[in-house]
Amino acid sequence: MKVHEYQGKELFKSYGIPVMDQEVITDAKDAGPAADRMGGFVVVKAQVLVGGRGKAGGVKLAKSADEAVEKARAILGMDIKGETVEKVLVTTAADIEKEYYLGLIMDRTSKKIVLMVTKEGGVEIEELAAEEPDKIHKFPIDIRDGVDHGALAPVLQEVFEKPVLIDQAKDTVDRLYKMFVEKDCSLVEINPYSLVDGDTLVALDAKVNFDDNALMKHDDVEAMKNPEEYSRDEIDAKSFGLSFVSMDGDIGCIVNGAGLAMATMDIIKIFGGNPANFLDVGGSSNPQKVLNAIKIILRNEKIRAILINIFGGITRCDDIARGIMMATQQIDIKVPLVIRLVGTNQEEGRAILEEGGFSAYDELSEAVQKVVAL
Ligand code: GDP
Ligand code: MN
Repeated sequence: MKVHEYQGKELFKSYGIPVMDQEVITDAKDAGPAADRMGGFVVVKAQVLVGGRGKAGGVKLAKSADEAVEKARAILGMDIKGETVEKVLVTTAADIEKEYYLGLIMDRTSKKIVLMVTKEGGVEIEELAAEEPDKIHKFPIDIRDGVDHGALAPVLQEVFEKPVLIDQAKDTVDRLYKMFVEKDCSLVEINPYSLVDGDTLVALDAKVNFDDNALMKHDDVEAMKNPEEYSRDEIDAKSFGLSFVSMDGDIGCIVNGAGLAMATMDIIKIFGGNPANFLDVGGSSNPQKVLNAIKIILRNEKIRAILINIFGGITRCDDIARGIMMATQQIDIKVPLVIRLVGTNQEEGRAILEEGGFSAYDELSEAVQKVVAL
């Protein structure tokens, strides 16, 4: 789950990480009073869930309340990488002397939280990582031990040089790490982590992502959820108990099990097709779920065929077949359905399908070649 910069900064503030004063507004005229309260010299920033707002014109400096209103008006409604700006942040402008980068990421390969820090902040970190990876210091942290400051000291020394800055960076790393662990983050970035007023480091941007699977532990995090992060289909699928992710292709997929669903998408690709979605109906087989899955898939106008791939263990093939029949009776399905149905109660399932005029494949590769051809 992603949150907006202003939400990330509120969290930073609650952990004692230095940020500038801020106010979020949705109506441009409110930028004036907000700017006045902050001394007139402010930055107006688009609040969207994508990065690179600066380059896209979504971050503008204003030197007066009137100018703040004007900039807010320009930014509200702007389209940034497909997201419409509905909120802007008005924040005290900082006189930036230098931009650093500080980030924490969950690295599944090393099973550690990795601290990333560089003097070359401000720019898009992905570009720096691709072009000059040596400039980013990477410092793995074993979650059983926490931050090893003895080992980290030389890294902070090299990046921040002056003792007064090193101390602040060390403090920020501790607070950021605490937040990362306590809130089950998957990524936290401060870019830029800026030097202002000669000797103060401040977080001028905040990118905070959370582990969706840990949301049930954190009502406060869940409460920050932004509906614009998810498509209508994804939200509905979730309410139906389906795991669903939209993709760009034209073959709708209904599969039981996340691993099989991913393998199915790979095999579609191998045979030259493109999946329109990831969809896992889950282990339990309720005919209603299959019906709901077909309904959600058919909302997508790009769909030219649907592949149903069931390898029944706990999932019972007869329940799946019943769901398919319910769907064909209740909705006018205009695209071909290709079904691969094996496993628990497969004979019963196939009998139900045959009665309805459908047949099922045994082999996934045959079913996939068929659906790609269609
Ligand atoms: P991003 O482009 O989406 O990452 O948005 P950022 O919040 O990082 O802003 C982009 C750039 O705008 C920063 O790298 C800064 O150079 C600049 N910026 C942001 N806040 C301030 C500020 O308070 N003062 C000044 N002078 N520049 C700022
Ligand atoms: Mn940034």
